[in-house]
Amino acid sequence: MSKTSKIALVTRLSDAAEDTWLALLRAALPQEDIQSLRHLPAQEAASVEIAIVANPDPAALQTLPNLVWVQSLWAGVERLVAELPQFTPPIVRLIDPQLARNMSEAALAWTYYLFRDMPAYAAHQRARDWVQEPYRSAREVSVGILGLGALGAASARRLQEQDFNVLGWSRSQKSLEGITCLSGEDGFDTLLSRSDIVICLLPLTSTTTGLLNAAAFGRMKQSAALINFARGPIVDTAALCAALDAQQIKHAVLDVFDQEPLPAASPLWTQAGITVLPHISGPTDPRTGAQVAADNIRKYRETGTIAQSVDLTVGY
Ligand code: NDP
Repeated sequence: MSKTSKIALVTRLSDAAEDTWLALLRAALPQEDIQSLRHLPAQEAASVEIAIVANPDPAALQTLPNLVWVQSLWAGVERLVAELPQFTPPIVRLIDPQLARNMSEAALAWTYYLFRDMPAYAAHQRARDWVQEPYRSAREVSVGILGLGALGAASARRLQEQDFNVLGWSRSQKSLEGITCLSGEDGFDTLLSRSDIVICLLPLTSTTTGLLNAAAFGRMKQSAALINFARGPIVDTAALCAALDAQQIKHAVLDVFDQEPLPAASPLWTQAGITVLPHISGPTDPRTGAQVAADNIRKYRETGTIAQSVDLTVGY
């Protein structure tokens, strides 16, 4: 390591949240000089070799002329990829088993919410109706997961352990014990047509934008449900609302939106059949996230090897 080589933390988090990350990262990497970009004097920008980022303003990274690589503290990096097409330093996403655990917990929790008919019982209570929804066992319920990466595969396993019949879809063909793994256009159609609950855990790329549109909803089982934990623009919101109105889709749990925070004026807040969540399905745990980033940086310092980075040709 060059004595002057620095690490910059580049985020749009609050000062308090940045301070938490700085304390954890400095504790994990005591040899390193880690500074928030907010407090880095402009004349020191050229000495930054590694940026640790959390949903940064892409323009902020362009103020660091000698960056060798970027460690993201988030799993999704689509904004960096889309807004900095000329950006060449490798971008390493956060791949943290604790994040996968958090997301798989959310997949299970909101699958139970739909499977055990909680939206229907909330409506019955409001109407003072004593109505029992039909019984079904978990093994009669098919859950289709779009995306079998770090988060999708962990969610698939968790649901399968709880007896759900799990299908998964990815770009390359996977083989996961007990899970029906699909790929390609036929696989997409099969997953949609067989699933009672579809969970989206795809990255946002040029090929996934608008993937869940009117045609896709038309291929889903009548009265199936959708959970979107990935990114808002993967779902065509107008088509989703039309499918809900037509009762083609029974319910949608949305954790991510085209615009976040969801504007107070958005009709989604009150649309029948939609549960709105404020992007909470897969929180990064700063303690484990800092350790993952530190391990990648330590390995780079020791061996010169950068951890597996985003493939810019496919966008994830
Ligand atoms: P990965 O990159 O590990 O996995 C992505 C999966 O999607 C892979 O299985 C990949 O296929 C598949 N895929 C990508 N493009 C296509 C395509 N065109 N057709 C079919 N399959 C495709 O990502 P993660 O699992 O770590 O994260 C997924 C997303 O979750 C993130 O990009 C982020 O947007 C979102 N996220 C949301 C959070 C929240 O709190 N709401 C928190 C964290 C992440 P293959 O395996 O063949 O490459």
